Amino acid sequence: MKIKKNTISHNRVAIVIETLEQLQGTPQQKHQRADPLDMLIGTLLSQNTNDKNSHQAYVRLRKKFPDWKRAAEAPVNQIASAIKVGGMKNQKSRRIKKLLHEIHRQFSGYKLRGIERWENKKIIERLTSFDGIGYKTAACVALFSLRREIFPVDTHIHRILNRLGIVQTKTPDKTFEAMEEKIPEGKSYSFHTNLIRFGRTVCLAQRPQCGICPLFEECGFSEKDKFVFRKQTPAKRRDPNFMLLDEI
Ligand code: SF4
Repeated sequence: MKIKKNTISHNRVAIVIETLEQLQGTPQQKHQRADPLDMLIGTLLSQNTNDKNSHQAYVRLRKKFPDWKRAAEAPVNQIASAIKVGGMKNQKSRRIKKLLHEIHRQFSGYKLRGIERWENKKIIERLTSFDGIGYKTAACVALFSLRREIFPVDTHIHRILNRLGIVQTKTPDKTFEAMEEKIPEGKSYSFHTNLIRFGRTVCLAQRPQCGICPLFEECGFSEKDKFVFRKQTPAKRRDPNFMLLDEI
């Protein structure tokens, strides 16, 4: 079923945002903004791995190549060796090298020059034109580095918003489109960050903790009653609040 953008209730979104802030606090962005290209490559490294491993991969990559020119000129196997800890080293190293070459060609240097002045639509269009860069990665650059009102959607956010019944969509990209302009002003970062934390501790993919969930009454998940009587303890993760993109 194709969701009409105007069918999403702003009120329900606001209730969920407020509930998550009561449960987990209101996350604040760091004072210092990361360079957009650093953020783009950091987000690319985070694909299909956890934040801890991708953070390690990013730190090792920057240690080996303190500037992007050196990475662009290095053999691809050297990039692969630096990012090995993050997984998919061959695919990601090829993508990074190709991305750096393309950025150098289009921007005459290793900077996304002028991106701060672009509208969100242009940021998404230009960044997703690069090989291997999708909506989520492009939106992360806009939110985390450029501090835009934009709401990146990963698989976890997609899952939770569908369970809650806020969207009925098949893919994270469709959820991203459906949520466009549905987040109250100033709440994109808080909502994005809190949904990720919530998905790590309560609304888990395989065993959602519905019995202890403060959104139970709000939630439209058809199987929620089935999960209520399962053992309910918040998932133990060493650091559920660690967010790679806050560390770039
Ligand atoms: S009730 Fe269950 S499925 Fe719904 S949001 Fe809470 S944990 Fe997730």
